[in-house]
Amino acid sequence: MIHTQIDERGYYGRFGGAYIPEMLQANVEELRVNYLRMLEDPEFRREFDLLLKDYVGRPSPLYYADRLSQHYGAKVYLKREDLNHTGAHKINNTIGQILLAERLGKKRIIAETGAGQHGVATATVCALKGLQCIVYMGEVDIERQAPNVARMRMLGAEVRPARSGSRTLKDATNEAIRDWINNPEDTHYIIGSVVGPHPYPDMVARFQSVISEEMKWQLAEKTGRDYPDAIVACVGGGSNAAGAYYHYLNDERVRLIAVEAAGLGVDSGESAATSQLGTEGIIHGSRTLLMQTEDGQIVEPYSISAGLDYPGIGPLHAFLIDAKRAEAVSVTDDEALAASLFVARQEGIIPALETAHAFAALDHMSYGPEDVIVVCLSGRGDKDLAAFSAYLESQPLP
Ligand SMILES: *Cc1c(COP(=O)(O)O)cnc(C)c1O
Repeated sequence: MIHTQIDERGYYGRFGGAYIPEMLQANVEELRVNYLRMLEDPEFRREFDLLLKDYVGRPSPLYYADRLSQHYGAKVYLKREDLNHTGAHKINNTIGQILLAERLGKKRIIAETGAGQHGVATATVCALKGLQCIVYMGEVDIERQAPNVARMRMLGAEVRPARSGSRTLKDATNEAIRDWINNPEDTHYIIGSVVGPHPYPDMVARFQSVISEEMKWQLAEKTGRDYPDAIVACVGGGSNAAGAYYHYLNDERVRLIAVEAAGLGVDSGESAATSQLGTEGIIHGSRTLLMQTEDGQIVEPYSISAGLDYPGIGPLHAFLIDAKRAEAVSVTDDEALAASLFVARQEGIIPALETAHAFAALDHMSYGPEDVIVVCLSGRGDKDLAAFSAYLESQPLP
């Protein structure tokens, strides 16, 4: 049995920790000292649970996908994070972090975003609490996720473009870190995934763990046992996967499938399949797997999906994959697009491009007819309609 909780220094095995410049030490230390105490405070818990219920709309349904089940010859359930307020799992974490920021007396919130879902979720909770919100976003992503940029502005957030590197998520994260260094007193940085220095990976995983907490009783109700045979989730940084795995990390009956973006193909040079292409190193404050050259320069990642277009993965996932507790599968842009269309037409659900990678992975797996598979349906596809339209135009008429 592997030990899946962090140690006192914030490591999962060799992965994790807090590799930060001295200028950030005070901010990160303030969080580290306070987060567990605050999360375990009954008053915090009460407000968190109430907002998840009445504002986010939890519990999210666990839906038995009949036609997908027939197609794959297994029992396929979808954990419907797409039905959350703002359309993805990201809101679970931003609700938690805004309550934390409020208790720490912070007045100004910054965030990074790729697909814009985390930016929208952050802008939303800032509006909810009346706090100033600045979201850093790569210039390329601002272009390909225009609807979410409009949403953030509507909610009162300022969207600041990141113009360096591949002008995507990694570069937005660099800008957000720079901002935090310059505003150490009044600002809280809401990181959107299980990445960054300790305590972020553990803190975000705990906020997202509501996903598997609900799955347990929902599966018991629907299947008579409270665990599935496999959980399939896409991994950008890995927060929806961490939440979907959390209460099953030590349950070896449950296969954990981590789906990464292969972009144009794992070996094409245009990819974000970190677990296959990555080596150990430090990115954004933690020791993990990342795509880098031999002399430690970060390799620019690529995926059609802005939420998976990141050169690292969270330390929990690096650890789970390294320990062979989780299986990594990689899926190309084309496979993800085809899966989006397929799921839309089989189930009447348009998934986010990120989530479509998880669906496409079902084609890479084998299972028995009695197997219960849960796919974490991390978000809805409204933000990706431009990509879907272009794809449809490229297809022969049905
Ligand atoms: C952001 C996002 C992801 C990727 O982030 P994780 O932290 O890996 O979950 C996946 N799906 C959707 C819908 C997203 O918005």
